[in-house]
Amino acid sequence: MADGWTTDRVLQLAPDPASAKAGQGLATTRKWVSVGCDGLVLWGECQGSGANPYQVQVDLSQAAYKCSCPSRKFPCKHSLGLMLIFAAAQMPASVKPPWVEQWLASRAERDREPSPVLYAWLEKCSYPHLERPAQLPPPMLAPDHELLSPRSRSFDRWK
Ligand SMILES: [Zn+2]
Repeated sequence: MADGWTTDRVLQLAPDPASAKAGQGLATTRKWVSVGCDGLVLWGECQGSGANPYQVQVDLSQAAYKCSCPSRKFPCKHSLGLMLIFAAAQMPASVKPPWVEQWLASRAERDREPSPVLYAWLEKCSYPHLERPAQLPPPMLAPDHELLSPRSRSFDRWK
């Protein structure tokens, strides 16, 4: 897990090999009506056989999934596809649409504790809209990290 979100790690979440394969088939943004990520949540709309696209959401801080498709697989191929796009650093940063806000609001009282590993991955992918939530634990810094160097401390005086 130390190296963040990888394709292998996502595929290990698949409930069975068929789901893993189907998820890989959806691991391209071209298969989606819309996709986005705000740093802690992935979402996407995927056109299935019904009139309306399936609405898919993944809370990265807890590995919680929600999808409007009828599959009883958990996570379903849509959730897996979204996470695979994210693992490939192909997920565009965006602003949460209302249906994602609603889902999060319904779960907001539960603990949401993003892991330092997740945060490190997001930084590595340079998500431009990433805002570090107030409740996020500080990233683990090595003792010799530049933030602790005398040069950085002198920079603080200019703030
Ligand atoms: Zn689904």
